[in-house]
Amino acid sequence: MKPGDLITTAFRLTDTQQSALRRLGITTVRELLFHFPFRYEVGGGEASIAGLASGAEATIIGTLEKLETKKSWERKIPVSEGIIKDATGKIKVRWFNQPYIAKMYQNGTTVKAVGKVSGSAGKEYLANPELERVSPTDIGLFASQKPPHSREMNRNQPLREGASASSNSSAKIFAMYPESRGVTSLWFRHALERVLGSGILDGLKDPLPPEMLKQYNLPTLKTALVWIHTPHTTKDAEAARKRFAFEEVFLIQLGCAKDKAAQTHEKSFVVDAPEEAVDEYIKEAFPFEATRTQKRAVDAILADMRSGSLMSRLLEGDVGSGKTAVAATAAYAAVRTRPQGQNFGTLQVAYMAPTEILAKQHFESFIKYFEQFPINIGLITGSGCYKFPSKVRRDQPTNISRTQLLKWVANGEIPVLIGTHALIQKAVQFKHLALVIIDEQHRFGKSQRRALVKKQLQLPHLLSMTATPIPRTLALTIYGDLDLTLLDEMPPGRKRVITEIVKPGARGEAYQKIRREIKSGRQVYVICPRIEEPDPEKAFALQAKSVKEEAKRLKIEVFPEYEIGILHSKMKPKEKDEVMARFAAHETNILVATSVVEVGVNVENATVIFIEGAERFGLSQLHQLRGRVVRSTHQAYCYVCPETRGEKTLARLNALTKAKNGFELAEMDLEQRGPGTLAGSKQWGISDIGMEALKNLKLVEAARSEAQKIIEHDVELKKHPLLQAAVAERTSEHHFE
Ligand code: ADP
Ligand code: MG
Repeated sequence: MKPGDLITTAFRLTDTQQSALRRLGITTVRELLFHFPFRYEVGGGEASIAGLASGAEATIIGTLEKLETKKSWERKIPVSEGIIKDATGKIKVRWFNQPYIAKMYQNGTTVKAVGKVSGSAGKEYLANPELERVSPTDIGLFASQKPPHSREMNRNQPLREGASASSNSSAKIFAMYPESRGVTSLWFRHALERVLGSGILDGLKDPLPPEMLKQYNLPTLKTALVWIHTPHTTKDAEAARKRFAFEEVFLIQLGCAKDKAAQTHEKSFVVDAPEEAVDEYIKEAFPFEATRTQKRAVDAILADMRSGSLMSRLLEGDVGSGKTAVAATAAYAAVRTRPQGQNFGTLQVAYMAPTEILAKQHFESFIKYFEQFPINIGLITGSGCYKFPSKVRRDQPTNISRTQLLKWVANGEIPVLIGTHALIQKAVQFKHLALVIIDEQHRFGKSQRRALVKKQLQLPHLLSMTATPIPRTLALTIYGDLDLTLLDEMPPGRKRVITEIVKPGARGEAYQKIRREIKSGRQVYVICPRIEEPDPEKAFALQAKSVKEEAKRLKIEVFPEYEIGILHSKMKPKEKDEVMARFAAHETNILVATSVVEVGVNVENATVIFIEGAERFGLSQLHQLRGRVVRSTHQAYCYVCPETRGEKTLARLNALTKAKNGFELAEMDLEQRGPGTLAGSKQWGISDIGMEALKNLKLVEAARSEAQKIIEHDVELKKHPLLQAAVAERTSEHHFE
């Protein structure tokens, strides 16, 4: 077996297994080897059926029998039923709303079942247990009395180089893998035993230098692969995970440090708008006075762009801190500058937003902010193109064809182009693109900038903006190549949002207060965790509130006299726009939405947000949602309404009422819920195991300083070919989409 072998040649697979593996992104043996367990279970914890009592969380091994699916007459939902038998007795199992279970398993299958024992004495049953197929010969593995067999077989490889060999316990540790229907953890364990036993590891080269492993006490690649898949002890597993986490963060840092080193030498446009002109712009363009921090941010950006070296700056500020005005000022400086050697035309600006709603909103803000300094402004999204001003009505934008827009952008007549991802398609070509502004997107690197301006000699400056507060470890990891400016001051007159946890039975009271706000002319968001009522065919139904049902209920039972709109991600862009436009125009009083309103939506008159199922959101996500109502000088309110009343839930939500800012909440999220739940964690291109590292500031700092040390002496990584290859692979995998 070789790492590059196709999984289909290395294993005999059924069609279902093949497609399951494909879904998991596993096509080669190497990918299988790097498909890591997401948790471990200690074997020997199984109970005998005879000893089970209602209320207990039980893990049992036995044979399935009498599987069937019925409709429960009282609840009108499908119920799958069956029996699990072991040597000591039998117990009923029931799955509500999972009719396919009975079809997925056959009578006589040996399974491991984990679930809660419910029902009254004598009528106990296991409710909605998770099942895992177990081969009958494996049952012995779980019995704690018997010595573990088949262990030595898969241990004929490099093992035990480090410490922590343990033999004192017969409890076996089982790796549990991210599964897909058709391939279970058990399948992975078997497959990996074969892979690890094949000698394949001898051909793998460890990208981490041996001195580094020694210094941080990390296992080698070979050892770590064995330990992560087939650990003897939980310590082994932890050591292996730590190594891979370190490796990932180190490689990211290495990439960042490399980019940063290269960047400091790169030339870009000299943006030299006269200082007085910029000062005047700031005074005249906005209906408010810029805050001190906004001015400071502008100064930093202008100094960068004036220098002629390439700018890569991140502007980080809480929701509502006024980043758009800073962006507009930077854009103004660019469009006030002539292209080099020309006495006509201007430099150009591209402003990219993550959603159509936001792109439109920025377009409208820019139209206002450039009222007295007239320029053409373009908008490009998947569903249409606009230009301001219209030829006919100078104060209005007009719908134009994409071809026309692209022509004007290419010949420089439209100096500012705002848009969604449509902005970075190949067909969009600029004449003199000098500045790229990006809202809520932090991984837009040099290669994307290059793609954006293929025919241009110079790369454009980058101003990246974010309101996503992230923990320090994550910032150190992903912003390694950016200069940072904080907008840590709110515009004056903002009141703190009054945040209340809605107690059981106090919903009516909250609605009364909301009615009072609506009566005095304000508007309201209601956020629900789901779009529709649960699909009975899908996994055990979450009883979370849905946008559609809740909107109906509110209209019928609570606010019949008011207009209610709905907004969610499955709507077409055009529908979303209409809904937002009606809400912005105050034609609707209440907007019931999923968390799509999370990023950046700006309706100043909306001062109340009511969040259903609040415990389903992370703290920093709740904070972002709350940010929707800090847009004006009116007092704003945030009601958080959890479905459950556990102590933990309440403690978490309490933090929301007390925390000073989003960063504090992000740190709490990391601590309490784990890295996987950080708002938008997927967008950073860090694996689950890499995210584990973020709980450990020391580890992240070590990885960072090691990366910097290497780059300092060897920018191109010529002396570290393995690292060079690994970094290149990462960069190509995680390119911007
Ligand atoms: P964000 O940083 O979340 O992108 P925005 O740029 O959308 O914030 O600004 C939020 C609101 O604050 C807007 O309505 C804007 O007009 C207003 N605003 C921005 N700067 C100031 C300021 N210095 N004084 C008063 N209001 C401001
Ligand atoms: Mg914004």
